[in-house]
Amino acid sequence: MSKVLVIGAGGVSSVCVHKMAMNPDIFSQIHLASRTKSKCDAIAESVRQRTGQEVATYEIDAEEVPAMVNLIRKLGPSLVVNLALPYQDLPIMDACLEAGVDYLDTANYEPKDEAKFEYKWQWAYHDRFKEAGIMALLGSGFDPGVTSVFTMWLKKHKLKTIRQLDILDCNGGDHGQHFATNFNPEINIREVTAPARHWENGKWVETPAMAEKVEFEFEGVGPKNMYMMYHEELESLAKFNPELERARFWMTFGDEYIKHLTVLQNVGMTRIDPVKYQGHDIIPLQFLAAVLPKPETLGETTKGKTNIGVIATGEALDGSGEKTFYINNICDHEDAYEETGNQAVSYTTGVPAMVGSAMMLQGKWCAPEGEGGVFNMEQFDPDPFLDMLGEQGLPWNVKELDGPVDF
Ligand code: NDP
Repeated sequence: MSKVLVIGAGGVSSVCVHKMAMNPDIFSQIHLASRTKSKCDAIAESVRQRTGQEVATYEIDAEEVPAMVNLIRKLGPSLVVNLALPYQDLPIMDACLEAGVDYLDTANYEPKDEAKFEYKWQWAYHDRFKEAGIMALLGSGFDPGVTSVFTMWLKKHKLKTIRQLDILDCNGGDHGQHFATNFNPEINIREVTAPARHWENGKWVETPAMAEKVEFEFEGVGPKNMYMMYHEELESLAKFNPELERARFWMTFGDEYIKHLTVLQNVGMTRIDPVKYQGHDIIPLQFLAAVLPKPETLGETTKGKTNIGVIATGEALDGSGEKTFYINNICDHEDAYEETGNQAVSYTTGVPAMVGSAMMLQGKWCAPEGEGGVFNMEQFDPDPFLDMLGEQGLPWNVKELDGPVDF
């Protein structure tokens, strides 16, 4: 029985709060605070209608550390779940340190003026969290999040070491819009327009954005073009699996998405530096995000499935030589919408955020005895997490492939 404070009221938060309310034995009191209180109220109302549970709501600017500290002290939660944007990670971690409470997020910190995903800023909090005896769990979404847990499950049950790793993220959903992103547009476009980076022979190899394209047959979806790009879990996977010879991340994009994104980039609309407009500084990407469809409005029309998983090749645990395994989840957009009022991209992130929170609150994932610190998903036992993930709407499947990937 634990009290949680969730920050942010977008699609991911909506799913996570619904799923927390469906597990009242773990989440006995849910408090929800965000920049726009009306969005918290809308989530609370939907939760009340679907589950009969109450969610208390508040307005907060999470970048105002003293205000965050006051709110945490007033409510006394056991855990703060950060489902706002990556820019707020550090201020919310500062507030947790000052108030002495555990922290969880789904995306690593990124400075507003630089599209650079790196764990270094958050890893630098480790000693302070340790001294304070509190714990931070970083990246408890799907990717990052479940993809790291999938990898560690393979390493616990199938492979002694992993030589090659490919993460495949397919969204086969169709929302019926010319161009829209399935999660926060600003974060999504910063991510896909950044140069690709993969891990090879102990170092990062950088290639131009969207330059490497491969067609892959995704179960439940069909053939899709996927593009190599950088994704933050590659950094923690490489750190905690030093034997990796190569680790890559792939995401599918339709031709329409690529066409619109190319034009937007060519005309400067994806820039993140300030531009003077009628005497004001505006950031073109933030303006673009304001005119694009809101991800939380796409649920009603999105049809199709997501299929996200990991293909790993390495030495088999049973000594039978080199083996390749594919572990993945397939999630249906319409089923996700029916259950929580949100499409599958929010669902596949919000459910693991709830499961990661449950792991911490139930003490199944905790810092070494009497200590705290900042931890990644790779550092804990994958079994209880994946057991609960399957029970809570994201069942997963593992199969052996004939050999390593040929792309
Ligand atoms: P949204 O943009 O839909 O929601 C973000 C929410 O954060 C909004 O309610 C917003 O407020 C609120 N917010 C923004 N700034 C502040 C602030 N200063 N103080 C308080 N609240 C603030 O995003 P999503 O729900 O799509 O994504 C949420 C997080 O999940 C992001 O960090 C994203 O990167 C991450 N993510 C992770 C994935 C994974 O698999 N690991 C996949 C997808 C997303 P307002 O309503 O006023 O705008």
